[in-house]
Amino acid sequence: MKFTMKQFNDRFPTSDACLEELKQLRFADFACPNCDSSKLYKVKGRSMYASPCGFQVAPLSGTIFHKSSTDLRTWFLTIFLMTTTRSGVSAKTVERMTGVTYKTAWRMCNQIRTLMQDGGDLLTGVVEVDETYFQANPRKDSRLPKGKRTGEAGIVLGMAEVGGRVRVRRVPNSGLGMLDHVYENVSKSAIIHTDGWLAYKKLPKMGYTHAVVDHSIGQHVVDGVGTQNIDGFWNNLKRGVYGVYRHCEPKYLESYANEYAWRYSNCNSGVPMFELLLSKVA
Ligand SMILES: [Zn+2]
Repeated sequence: MKFTMKQFNDRFPTSDACLEELKQLRFADFACPNCDSSKLYKVKGRSMYASPCGFQVAPLSGTIFHKSSTDLRTWFLTIFLMTTTRSGVSAKTVERMTGVTYKTAWRMCNQIRTLMQDGGDLLTGVVEVDETYFQANPRKDSRLPKGKRTGEAGIVLGMAEVGGRVRVRRVPNSGLGMLDHVYENVSKSAIIHTDGWLAYKKLPKMGYTHAVVDHSIGQHVVDGVGTQNIDGFWNNLKRGVYGVYRHCEPKYLESYANEYAWRYSNCNSGVPMFELLLSKVA
């Protein structure tokens, strides 16, 4: 589902239009507790609406926009940029495109990212599980001799439904502790595909149906068992993290990975991702 820049501009020409959208999302079933009226009028010069008797509602309260000095349309535009690009946007790009300071752009992106949390039902069907390593600074690192590289920003465990959703978790190491996340996120009825890594050999003991494709001996897909979905996700995530963010601070790794997983999981939902995220605000 496409949501174009032109559609965005037509629908949200001003911050008031954005506020109106939030009012619709949050107070669609409004009935005034005092006079029972369903009417709401914009309060001039304020981000508020009032019913005929003067009862006020604030569409921004309790949202990431509350008490922000950045105008609402800039927020909406940033959400648009983050939800319509396959690889996300850097704070630097948001700064360039909206005219806010870098610090403000960075804060907005971070706040918007908090809405991109996974959740809901356990992953089901065929689920590919894999872990991958991130370098703190891949460009700089590649110029340094091996022993002097700045090392890892962290390890991320990924779980991908074939043709469906992805979930990611940052893990301290690639040991058995990773399996706790599988247990918390993947239905017992799922069939799990992994490579031959030792830790995954415990999966059958946890009650999962487990099929292995052994990359170490050159296998990639055997009898329909493969890890192409999670591999594709890692490619997209790494291109983004190394290309868009340039360097990867360990403490933001999970939040970046979540942002990519959110887009991956929601890109075929039939609703533009912009709308999905906006409904999360409300
Ligand atoms: Zn009233």
